[in-house]
Amino acid sequence: MPILDKMETCIFCKIINGDVPCDKVYEDDKTLAFLDLNPVARGHTLVIPKKHFETMDEMDEETAAAVIETTQKIARAVLKFNDGYNVNQNNKPEAGQVVPHVHYHIVPRNSGDGLHYCWNKIDLSEKEIDEVKVKIQTFLK
Ligand SMILES: [Zn+2]
Repeated sequence: MPILDKMETCIFCKIINGDVPCDKVYEDDKTLAFLDLNPVARGHTLVIPKKHFETMDEMDEETAAAVIETTQKIARAVLKFNDGYNVNQNNKPEAGQVVPHVHYHIVPRNSGDGLHYCWNKIDLSEKEIDEVKVKIQTFLK
């Protein structure tokens, strides 16, 4: 789908354009931060670039830097009234991405809040570790 068509149907682009309301907490020329509509914690915030990109790897460096800067600002604010925070960022449906416009979740965390990750450790042989390491290094070139 061409980028302009995606922007017309993208819920986050509609929020950026003011066509859909949000609980905005911060905005600058490149980014927007607002409370998640389906929060898992008090203060659960999303940071998005104003330019439409589907996934993190697609962003140009300037946009990526701006998004990280805003994510850090929100994290510092959240840390003033919470014990900690997680930054979650999902890419592609297989990784749990629901809205196809890159976004960073800042999830405030507190002792005993009951949130859990379900990251099941896998066992890799030395051979498998070497193979995957070489694969990543090869694609970095
Ligand atoms: Zn979008």
